[in-house]
Amino acid sequence: MDSFPPDPLKQNNKFESKGDPGILAQPLAFLNDPEEDHVPEGLPFIVDGHVHLFPDHFFSSVWSWFDNFAWQIRYKLTSEEILDFLLCHGVDHIVALHYAHKPGVAIELNAYMARLCKSNPAVTGTATVFPGEVHARSILEDAFQSGLKGVKLHCHVQCFDMNSPAMGEIYEVCTFHSKPLIMHVGREPKSPAYPCDPYQLCSAGKLEKVLKAYPDLNLCVPHLGWDELDEYHHLIEKYDNLWLDTTMILADYFPVDPIPDLSEMRPDRIIFGTDFPNLPYAWDREIKKLVSLKLSDDTIARILGRNACEFYGINLPVVPKKGGGYAETNH
Ligand SMILES: [Zn+2]
Repeated sequence: MDSFPPDPLKQNNKFESKGDPGILAQPLAFLNDPEEDHVPEGLPFIVDGHVHLFPDHFFSSVWSWFDNFAWQIRYKLTSEEILDFLLCHGVDHIVALHYAHKPGVAIELNAYMARLCKSNPAVTGTATVFPGEVHARSILEDAFQSGLKGVKLHCHVQCFDMNSPAMGEIYEVCTFHSKPLIMHVGREPKSPAYPCDPYQLCSAGKLEKVLKAYPDLNLCVPHLGWDELDEYHHLIEKYDNLWLDTTMILADYFPVDPIPDLSEMRPDRIIFGTDFPNLPYAWDREIKKLVSLKLSDDTIARILGRNACEFYGINLPVVPKKGGGYAETNH
């Protein structure tokens, strides 16, 4: 099968990259940092809002791309092993994401995700589609029918223009079915091994046009919008239909300086996420950094769980957690 994303060695470059070569001009370091066998004690309900699940043959292509062009993956686990790992280590709920790297594979991926969700009540799965592919609308509608609770897209892999008619179709179907959309449209981590240049396709300004045109579409941008962190901070203040996830940015791995101060940001618009299993460092690195920020109890409860529950429609438990975490109420 094709590599994933398309192997740049097997195709003509579709773009000539200009300007910033991006953070992945060279592969990044593998960290052998220590890991615990459980999340820190006493935390409220924890949702990892950014976990990747794929069928085995997709995962091996994803990992070979990462190993060659990004970083060495520390946790090469199957989807079932990933769920067991996170739940056994104290994560309470998982939002599972995947993305179609070409037309024609979304139906298989969505059916796979729906099966995993049916057998795991602690998993909320999202659907994917390749923007502009034939029957994009019905692919998503069938996925929603099968129980998937949102849509995930990745601009660097799928090379879409977020202001194009093909994307308009996806925004409309999500809005019509009240399903949130999580899409990687920040410009980093840019890699010359991607088939398009995220610096040409992505900007906070382009996303603002979407936020204005689709006020009823709930959107989440991963990685706090890196590398336009200030611009995205400004957008969540201005638009109630935008959320950001923390994925990999709090972990102090990328050269992000300064790391955004979450206590200065809207506490109801930030979702904790990790990118597990595609990590070059310890699985709990990001949650330990988040806990070390000493945010208020209410803010940490929101970021760790409640915001993701509101975004995806996940029911919070009404009973206290074992080990000292305080109870959440359903709302
Ligand atoms: Zn991710």
